[in-house]
Amino acid sequence: MIPTRAYAGFAATTPLGPHTIDRRDPGPTDVQIEILYCGVCHSDLHTVRSEWTPPSYPCIPGHEIVGRVVATGKDVTTFRSGDIAGVGCLVDSCRECRSCNDGLEQFCERGATWTYGSKDRHTGGVTYGGYSTTIVVDQHFVVHIPVLLDLAAAAPLLCAGITTYSPLRHWRVGPGSRVGIVGLGGLGHMAVKIAHALGAQVTLFTTSSGKETDAKRLGADQVVLSRDTAAMNQRANSLDFILDTVAASHDLNPYLGCLDREGVMVVVGGPPTPHPPVLSGKLVGKRRSLAGSLIGGLGETQEMLDFCAKHGITCDIEVIRMQQINQAYERMLKSDVKYRFVIDMASLRG
Ligand code: NAP
Ligand code: ZN
Ligand code: ZN
Repeated sequence: MIPTRAYAGFAATTPLGPHTIDRRDPGPTDVQIEILYCGVCHSDLHTVRSEWTPPSYPCIPGHEIVGRVVATGKDVTTFRSGDIAGVGCLVDSCRECRSCNDGLEQFCERGATWTYGSKDRHTGGVTYGGYSTTIVVDQHFVVHIPVLLDLAAAAPLLCAGITTYSPLRHWRVGPGSRVGIVGLGGLGHMAVKIAHALGAQVTLFTTSSGKETDAKRLGADQVVLSRDTAAMNQRANSLDFILDTVAASHDLNPYLGCLDREGVMVVVGGPPTPHPPVLSGKLVGKRRSLAGSLIGGLGETQEMLDFCAKHGITCDIEVIRMQQINQAYERMLKSDVKYRFVIDMASLRG
């Protein structure tokens, strides 16, 4: 067993605080990683505050992990000690069902093992995430971080990057595509950068009037304040694809109205309460689609990292100490993040 320092939530309404856990000793195909940085995803907050199904406490969030390989099992072929490695939202799956065989491990028919809060296929306990100093993961679920990337700024690619890259690629966004991104937070700012790098014309929809300059710097061609009804109406029927990254319940209908004929809107946000009803007229009138998307498989995650290295894309981050996590959550709820908090895990190592 490897004693590991961590930060955990102990109940839905109390602050996160220090905790100690044991990681398993690396098995034959396992990689042991000393965690250097971990991004702070809004899903961490949803989970630890019990906004989705109540997690098992203590709950240790964190699924945007970058670290250094310090040990490998005897059958590990793809990593060596000293390599810089990444772990995202998944640490296991059945590896033999249709979805796993298709490289879509996140949709494993027998249930994927999430990096935190899942039943651990190895120990029979619960998985614990990246708000910790060490993690042990099967090599199949570990990716290589391209050496060109800044390590702290690369960490959020493991969730925010892949969650936005995957739908943009699946729905074939490319040169000339007219793309709308809703929300300029952790996911949204990555979506703007990646859509721009794919050659799309990017329109950002935001509730925050102060984000216009940043949005344009990040790659948006146009910025629309979504609370301005007249500005929204002006965009009617103007887009091929919309990616909605908002973390709170909101009306999807005005965005659907911005899609051109046969346009597709994809939601990735997981707000704790439902959105207001979608008007079927918004869909049938122009044969529009409303869809969802969930992170991406391991192969696609590596592809995304290589794409980001090629295009010089990382996240815009604010590095925090582990001890600042509770204040960071409060700021995230006020949309006051530019544009991802990343925890420097040296602060927990002491
Ligand atoms: P985040 O950094 O907090 O960003 C969310 C953004 O949504 C905010 O910056 C804000 O942008 C906008 N927003 C917030 N409250 C709003 C409101 N009441 N009305 C309209 N817009 C609002 O969150 P994140 O980490 O990017 O995560 C976004 C969502 O995606 C979360 O629900 C998370 O759980 C989910 N998620 C899903 C997946 C997946 O695989 N499907 C993966 C990761 C995360 P503006 O200030 O620009 O309006
Ligand atoms: Zn996430
Ligand atoms: Zn499977």
